[in-house]
Amino acid sequence: AKQKAGLNKSILNVGWHIIETYTKYKAYQAGKAVFKIPAPHTSQECAECDHTHPDNRKSQELFVCGN
Ligand SMILES: [Zn+2]
Repeated sequence: AKQKAGLNKSILNVGWHIIETYTKYKAYQAGKAVFKIPAPHTSQECAECDHTHPDNRKSQELFVCGN
C-alpha cells in the first residue's frame, strides 16, 4: 500500500508538470507570460486594490472586498 501511495504521488506530480508545461507552451504561442502564484490567500485577495483578508471571501462564489 505504501508503495502504491508513492506511485500515486509521482503520477500526480507528473500531472501537474504536464499541465504547467502545456500552459507555458500555449502561452508562448499566444505571446503571453505565465506566472506561478503561491496558492495560499490568493482567493482572499482583491483584484482591484490587493486588499487580502479572510473576510473578503464570504463564500466559494461570493467575493466582497472589505477595503
Ligand atoms: Zn478591494
